[in-house]
Amino acid sequence: MGPSLSGEHADAPSIAALREQAEGCERCDLYKHATQLVFGEGPGKARVVLVGEQPGDREDLAGRPFVGPAGRILDECLHEAGIDRSSCYLTNAVKHFKFEQRGKRRLHSRPNAGEIQRCSWWLGAELEKLHPEVVVALGATALSALLGRRAGVMKNRGDLIATPTGYQVLVTIHPSYLLRIQNRDDAAAERARFVKDLAQIAGRVD
Ligand code: SF4
Repeated sequence: MGPSLSGEHADAPSIAALREQAEGCERCDLYKHATQLVFGEGPGKARVVLVGEQPGDREDLAGRPFVGPAGRILDECLHEAGIDRSSCYLTNAVKHFKFEQRGKRRLHSRPNAGEIQRCSWWLGAELEKLHPEVVVALGATALSALLGRRAGVMKNRGDLIATPTGYQVLVTIHPSYLLRIQNRDDAAAERARFVKDLAQIAGRVD
């Protein structure tokens, strides 16, 4: 299992209380340069939780997950798959934006294994409070936080994998991947495949 399912995580009476605790988190160095914490958001009774990698530039400024370009494409694909975003809880494996400063631009930098492990303290607690039916791993970082080395995005794409905690993990890509594909036909095919992955759980969202 990945670090977020190890059983070692924060504890608080509610998601709001967890978020308040996380505001002061210094478990890794990423809080030092980010604008603010970007915690998960959504209904406390959500049956489906979507887990991304980390906040991007727009999310870091807004303080909310999936509000940038990748969030827009995720919204469109959820809608096409028959899933209402507002019924889902959205969060990230890592709660502070990691980036490299290049002039005025802040370029996304992938969190390392240590940062994923440290931040699983919060993801594990969110999942424990929510008790969802399905957790969607959007990309390799989320998958690593949830299932460790047991699974891979390419190897298990589209699979629903059972966990000892009772919920299933749906393995798929991160929507930012779709934004990086140059060839239009390839991008359309990958997008359709992403919608198909998501559509598997459409009936399980309230
Ligand atoms: S990225 Fe996660 S573990 Fe690191 S400081 Fe932020 S909340 Fe804490």
